[in-house]
Amino acid sequence: MLSLIRLPRVFTINQVPKVFHEDSIISGYRHPYSSATDCVLSLFQLTNETLNIWTHFLPTWYFLWKLVTVVLMQTVWRDSFTWPLLIFLLSCCIYPLASSCAHTFSTMSARARHICFFFDYGALSFYSLGSAVIYSAYVFPDKWVNSLFHRWYVPIAVLNAVICTSLACYSRLGLPFLQYSHDIIKRFQESQSPKFSKCLRAVAFAYPCLFDNIPLFYRVFLCVGEGCTDNDTNILHCYHISLAFLTGFLFATHLPERLAPGSFDYIGHSHQLFHVCGILGTHFQMKAIEQDMVTRRPWLIQHSIPVTFSNSVGVALLCLVVNLSIIILYSLPLLSSAVSREKKRVKNPKKTFY
Ligand SMILES: [Zn+2]
Repeated sequence: MLSLIRLPRVFTINQVPKVFHEDSIISGYRHPYSSATDCVLSLFQLTNETLNIWTHFLPTWYFLWKLVTVVLMQTVWRDSFTWPLLIFLLSCCIYPLASSCAHTFSTMSARARHICFFFDYGALSFYSLGSAVIYSAYVFPDKWVNSLFHRWYVPIAVLNAVICTSLACYSRLGLPFLQYSHDIIKRFQESQSPKFSKCLRAVAFAYPCLFDNIPLFYRVFLCVGEGCTDNDTNILHCYHISLAFLTGFLFATHLPERLAPGSFDYIGHSHQLFHVCGILGTHFQMKAIEQDMVTRRPWLIQHSIPVTFSNSVGVALLCLVVNLSIIILYSLPLLSSAVSREKKRVKNPKKTFY
């Protein structure tokens, strides 16, 4: 039965267009114009993307299970104090799901690859907002609760999420319609200046992440004396912070494959480790937040800014709508170029990789 399913062949770096190249990964590339079926089949075939997909697809189900258990609690809709947890858990489901879909279908074409990763970036930016909403509700140290910074923290996080999505999408092809449209790329393209693109993207994600963690850094590393919320949860927050830095380090350095190009193509390259550390970090972040939520609840309800629809579900909806609009704006020139290419292909049906 299994012999009836022919798995697609894999290619080396020199056999696929530059846009599909990964730093220091030499082999295991899927066909650059794979069909959707071939993309799904590649989940069960060892390519350089297989573990990238599974390391985010499986945790999606774990986070979804966490979300469902909260949604099924009878009091959740009446108890506004739990809404930030819902937003955060939703963002924890969306980012690995979007990432595993992006890694699965990114080899359907160069165009599809860009669009897939636009969604991936939008989902990560939404996760940064989910973290800010929940930190504002349960993690801020006692000393900072109700301060001017606390009151502006979530609105600034929304702005950061919008900047993050825009900058990360910009890092691939530049500005839609102005710098790329219908196959014309005026200024830069990721394949021509990969270091610049990578740097922009690192800044796009590091910036909201660092901002979100300001109250936590203060609480765990800097605060002294009364009102520091120095409790048992801090150690879990430290695990999360360490893993977040390790995740950033792996993303920036491309280790270990940079030391031995070709040796980690299928198993053990930095992007897989980046996924695993990111998920473990989110796991500890979730544990810490749940503990803070339970132990600090009575004090926070009395002293903190009340959780309302607008500062929890409202900002999350706003962020989702704005992020989707940005992704559509960046994708539109690629979609219209798809239509024009399709017309050309009808006139000249010769099939090439490029
Ligand atoms: Zn990834």
